[in-house]
Amino acid sequence: MDFSWADEQILWRKTVREFAQKNIKPKIRDIDTDKKIPETIIKEMGKLGLLAPTVSKEYGGADLDWIMACIAAEELGRADISLAIPVLYLVEAAWGFIFNRYGSANAKEEYLPKITSGNAFCGIAVTEPKGGSDIVGATKTNAVQKGKNWVLNGEKIFISGITESMNWGGIHLTLARTQPSAGHKGFSLFAVPLKNNENIETTLFEDMGRMGISTGGFTMNNIELTGEHLIGDLNRGFYYAMEGFSAARTLIGATCVGAAEAALKLGIEHIKTRKAFGWSLGSFEGIQFPLAEHYTNIESVKLLNYRAAWTMDKMYRENKFSHHDVAIAAAMSKLRAPVYAFQLMNEVADWLGALGYTKEYPLEMGVRGIRSYSIGAEGTMNIMKIIIAREILGKEFLPYK
Ligand SMILES: Cc1cc2nc3c(=O)[nH]c(=O)nc-3n(C[C@H](O)[C@H](O)[C@H](O)COP(=O)(O)OP(=O)(O)OC[C@H]3O[C@@H](n4cnc5c(N)ncnc54)[C@H](O)[C@@H]3O)c2cc1C
Repeated sequence: MDFSWADEQILWRKTVREFAQKNIKPKIRDIDTDKKIPETIIKEMGKLGLLAPTVSKEYGGADLDWIMACIAAEELGRADISLAIPVLYLVEAAWGFIFNRYGSANAKEEYLPKITSGNAFCGIAVTEPKGGSDIVGATKTNAVQKGKNWVLNGEKIFISGITESMNWGGIHLTLARTQPSAGHKGFSLFAVPLKNNENIETTLFEDMGRMGISTGGFTMNNIELTGEHLIGDLNRGFYYAMEGFSAARTLIGATCVGAAEAALKLGIEHIKTRKAFGWSLGSFEGIQFPLAEHYTNIESVKLLNYRAAWTMDKMYRENKFSHHDVAIAAAMSKLRAPVYAFQLMNEVADWLGALGYTKEYPLEMGVRGIRSYSIGAEGTMNIMKIIIAREILGKEFLPYK
């Protein structure tokens, strides 16, 4: 076992950190207020290989492996603790990867170069009004074949990147039933462009955090797609979606680690300098003990997270391990990372006293942003526990088949 970084990993972290600290960090309050990521940042991210970075080079991607992708996620989280830019990054990295891996050649040629250069968005649309956890029970969207085309009807809700897709163009990988009687073996994934489609209606939600990226929904009324918009094999969509969720969860872990370390740094600077009762706050055990706990928690999440990324690299690049191993590793990371990061940010706010309740510090943006991941984006905490328990007890202990 080797815990050291390779030269290219050190260089990549340095490059992304310098870019993000210089170009992103000073803008995050504006992004939170304006509810928009500036176009210049998006274009610069594209030039640096930070948009859908896991996509292959022929489509403008950087062909990053998952450890490299996690390094970038950590650095983006460190710079933007509101999480808007890290969310954009990780959604495109995870779902751009699935599209690159399973999409048709023509669809990839049409969309991927635009996605990797910041001229189109790539998102995921699974959740529906009847619920996001129980995908098999709640998904009503269906796709019916019409000659060589597909006709989709249904509604997706709580979907990241609706405004971005409507403004820039791009696709949402959209889960639909193609063989309703077959349970999870009867779903397919489609690349659905939202922009300029009169049969698609969109809605938007006012979120509590990560304000720079939109969340909303869309309704499909008989939208017709060519066969090239089907992703991979018919009726394999559920499995492709699970692969994408594991990738996204791993990147969420890394994002939370970066944001938590940024928050902890703010806290450490404060407790070293602020005095009470004649002593620095950092001299009190009541401050030191939680500091040690949080530092250890974040380090433990980092290890879980890099193990998930490492397992993914072994699976995708060396054909070792299976998605089963990846799913558990990613679920463990997602189970811990947002919760620990949220606890840490709240504790640091306490250390700051009244300052911690103001917008002088970015912490409140962090607390609002990170909550999206502990509440459920890319799967709720209970669903992570179900994935892990299924591994321990076996599938026969699942109350649903
Ligand atoms: C900011 C944000 C962005 C999002 N972006 C996207 C996106 O881009 N694309 C997309 O498809 N979805 C997206 N989602 C939706 C997200 O995937 C769902 O919120 C999530 O899957 C949970 O679904 P739900 O909200 O319908 O809650 P429900 O499924 O109704 O669950 C409600 C509660 O019940 C619990 N629960 C459910 N089943 C069980 C069980 N068997 N045992 C114990 N507890 C259970 C859950 O853990 C949860 O606490 C986003 C969500 C948020 C908050």
